[in-house]
Amino acid sequence: MESLVYHRHTCRLCDSPKVPLALKLTDCPPVDAFITEEKRSVAQPRFPINLYLCETCGHGQLLDVVSPKLLFGDYIYTTASSPGLVNYFRDYATHVVSKVKPAPGSRALDIGSNDGTLLSFLKAQGLSVLGVDPASEVATSATAAGIETLPCFFNSQVGTELRRTRGDFGLVTANNVFAHSDTLGDMADGIRALLAPNGVFVFEVSYLLDMIENMVFDFIYHEHLSHHSVKPLQIFLKRHGLQLIDVERTASKGGTIRCYAQLAGGPRVESPEVPRLLLLENEYGLYRLETYTAWGNRIDAAKVRLNDLLTKLKTEGKTIAGYGASATGTVLTYHFGLGGVMDFIVDDNPVRQHRYSPGDHIPIVASTALAERKPDYLLILAWRFADMIIARNQAYLTQGGHFIVPLPEMRVV
Ligand SMILES: [Zn+2]
Repeated sequence: MESLVYHRHTCRLCDSPKVPLALKLTDCPPVDAFITEEKRSVAQPRFPINLYLCETCGHGQLLDVVSPKLLFGDYIYTTASSPGLVNYFRDYATHVVSKVKPAPGSRALDIGSNDGTLLSFLKAQGLSVLGVDPASEVATSATAAGIETLPCFFNSQVGTELRRTRGDFGLVTANNVFAHSDTLGDMADGIRALLAPNGVFVFEVSYLLDMIENMVFDFIYHEHLSHHSVKPLQIFLKRHGLQLIDVERTASKGGTIRCYAQLAGGPRVESPEVPRLLLLENEYGLYRLETYTAWGNRIDAAKVRLNDLLTKLKTEGKTIAGYGASATGTVLTYHFGLGGVMDFIVDDNPVRQHRYSPGDHIPIVASTALAERKPDYLLILAWRFADMIIARNQAYLTQGGHFIVPLPEMRVV
């Protein structure tokens, strides 16, 4: 039988064997495995989500790799089902095309293209588009909807084959897949194989520096194998014949960097933003273990503060529910030990409702349950969206309910 998890011993970006533990987190079940009623009797195994730091290149990463089959087996997510993401990709396409200025009619490839949302906007900008996505049903329906999508994982073999059969590509995009892949070197080789001489590879990843600064440790889970920063990426791209030429920071997902790369020796000039961020990372101590020890201490302090409050409320006989059934919520629940605290979890996404949380099997219900069950306190698991959640649930507040926002600084509303 194929093993469900393996532990690698070298850095995912530079192959160095010096990759010490930087941040120890509590083992979790697959964080998105919200299960149905029938599966409640089946125990869900837990796997490590510890963060390691490469001493050689400074890359932050998970070394325990859980089988993608286990993680993505029940994959139900498409971009178009998320209205915020559709707008995001519309702006993304406009911005990238105006910046990169690919020749009209030149080819664009999106790796991990999902339902083709980004490509449809790139197509509208005059590019000839192609998607690659391993979720075969999503790929098939994207193709049927007019965005040709190959149902496979992108690797060097696929890249070489595409170059041979289709020609070169003026624009290659990859969003989030760069955090998910365990074989990034092979993916980079595939991109180099098909990139046009003046082509640009654009990818977005969450930014480790922002994660530390903003306490977004709950973004560390099995699917997110890499937590990127600029220096390790620059070294990695260079090893694979690519050159990092620009980096943009955005606030998306608690802090994101959008990176631009060209073939080594390409025609574009490096932006001053690259050396500026390298300096910032160095001054921040992003490549030093002490920074992660200090981060771990801040996380521990937040855990103690929250649990003190919850214990006090429970002693007073108060009822507590959660808000936001998400992957990050699972990490927070396990690392902060909140499984026994919440009677139920409210979520606005109908796909999650009537299911049960990973591992603890806490029932997920619609927000209409707030009026019926009137919990005294609502612990916002999706804390990065706390302001939006509170604004949407004013009725709960006026009826005497309270919100607990656990992070970045605990507050009660
Ligand atoms: Zn490394």
